[in-house]
Amino acid sequence: MPSPAAGRATAPAPAPSTPAMVDGQVLARLRTLARRPPQSLVMEGGSAADREAAALAWAKVLNCPQGGCGVCVLCRQIDERAFRDLIVVDRQFFEDDPKTANIDQIRALLPVWGQPAHGAGSRVTVFAEAQDLHLSAANLLLKTLEEPRPGNVFVLLAPQRERLLQTLVSRSFVLTLPWPAAKVSEPDAAEWIAALLAFWDSGQGWFERTGTKGAADRALARRILSGLQRELILALSGQESPVAKRLARLGPAGLRRLDLVLAQAQEALNQPTAPVALVLDWIATAVIPK
Ligand SMILES: [Zn+2]
Repeated sequence: MPSPAAGRATAPAPAPSTPAMVDGQVLARLRTLARRPPQSLVMEGGSAADREAAALAWAKVLNCPQGGCGVCVLCRQIDERAFRDLIVVDRQFFEDDPKTANIDQIRALLPVWGQPAHGAGSRVTVFAEAQDLHLSAANLLLKTLEEPRPGNVFVLLAPQRERLLQTLVSRSFVLTLPWPAAKVSEPDAAEWIAALLAFWDSGQGWFERTGTKGAADRALARRILSGLQRELILALSGQESPVAKRLARLGPAGLRRLDLVLAQAQEALNQPTAPVALVLDWIATAVIPK
């Protein structure tokens, strides 16, 4: 946690979101991978903040002389995204038009990737929310990965690998982060998910639930979302759980739709003014074709 005084005096850019802890097993995995770093690493699972933290941890493991101690000058520079061998391609990176203008900005990185890192480690380029990359940008990245880029590694962050170009995934090592709900048992979220499935079958019981004042706060809504995302992964990969089985009945198109709905709902929940009950009602209704 940065001290409140730090960063307030300068910082025209919005402060990065609260740093998330990196799971110990993930860190151990990264340290093993660092012996022969894959040119491209896909990180899926977890929350967006977990994925971002894991990507920064990877940059630290590859560049900190102590293997990612987290406290040295270099590690702190990485946390503040002020490290010269770290490029984070995210919304802030595409300041003009996040949807369309990114191809030229990514093309401008090509000469950079043609050079080795400034320091003794590796230059790490992180694509946050890589599933949102414009297709032309994704194709440019794919071309980039087809050539050796000594001293450069790439990280693609996405909720699920299925949301990335298959050709990008097949050229990458995929690391799945623990799902938030898998860390602690979430009986309350599970109960809501069960109610949602019952609503899809019967059309009943959902609005009474969300309409009760104070029924679901933002934190619970996030747990419901991550629980659904976890079950969606299971359903997509053909694994069995009672919820995943029900989700699988949505069919491939329905699962894709659920994936998009969950991503949009997640974004809506990040708006502090979005009413939680409305977001939950929207999930319940948007997945089912009219
Ligand atoms: Zn360090």
